[in-house]
Amino acid sequence: MGEDSRETMRVLDLITAASTHLAEKGVENARLEVELLLGHLLGLDRVNLYMAFDRPVTEEERDAFRALYRRRLAREPLQYIIGSTGFREVELKTDSRALIPRPETELLVGTALDFLAKRESPLFADLGTGSGAIAISLLYENTEASAIAVDISDDALLLAHENARAMGFEDRIGFVRGDMLSALEGHGPFDAVLSNPPYVRTGDIAGLDPEVRDFEPGNALDGGRDGLDFLREIAVKAHEYLKNGGLVLLECEGGQADDTAAVFQQTGHYIEIEVICDLAGKKRLVKAVLR
Ligand code: GLN
Repeated sequence: MGEDSRETMRVLDLITAASTHLAEKGVENARLEVELLLGHLLGLDRVNLYMAFDRPVTEEERDAFRALYRRRLAREPLQYIIGSTGFREVELKTDSRALIPRPETELLVGTALDFLAKRESPLFADLGTGSGAIAISLLYENTEASAIAVDISDDALLLAHENARAMGFEDRIGFVRGDMLSALEGHGPFDAVLSNPPYVRTGDIAGLDPEVRDFEPGNALDGGRDGLDFLREIAVKAHEYLKNGGLVLLECEGGQADDTAAVFQQTGHYIEIEVICDLAGKKRLVKAVLR
């Protein structure tokens, strides 16, 4: 009996022990991450996990948790371990085949939605779709829209396709394997060309968090020497694929926004060019509307 109670570990004990350890290893938000990991394992949302703090953890659960926890300790991103993430109003499957959808990209979708709401049965392109986050959340929030999603990676396209199928969107989205705009040959014209392209400077990749650097696909991040390779290319050529009054909307990071806007300007094809800041106040999107 005495021995038994010494062995008994409760949910809260496990959370405390694991999150203290994870924090010591330098992971931010360790407590939250441990709660999400354990909640995932036990099939409990956070409220119900809190309600279960006093409940004993079985040996089986402990072993199962340990296996997941070890992966997180090795800095694998939580979203890959759990296998899904929320993005705006949809839940998307996430694994190492594609970049994890980021909160800042939700702003791109929101901005595109406002624009597409004014166009009839809009057709848009999502270049470098990855998990399909941009295309699928837009299809979910604008039921009139349809999409062509492009990626150079077969793996990413498979994941995006799985996500589209899970939503029942297969008849509203076409998938094309190829390199950005060149993959749109023979498709369109589009009401909007949208992209969260790779925009990390090649030289900055080594300094990224291990979660990103060691686990997410490098070709989804590397934007060349100044990070502008894809942004520049899209800004130069997107007009060929757009309807009159169509939108190009690109995600980038602070220092790249003005340079990208300048490229749009130089083409002479756009009437409205705008840089949009994210919730943190950083320049994050470049918008351009075709003449
Ligand atoms: N915001 C991402 C990151 O730094 C980069 C995404 C991208 O290159 N498109 O983690």
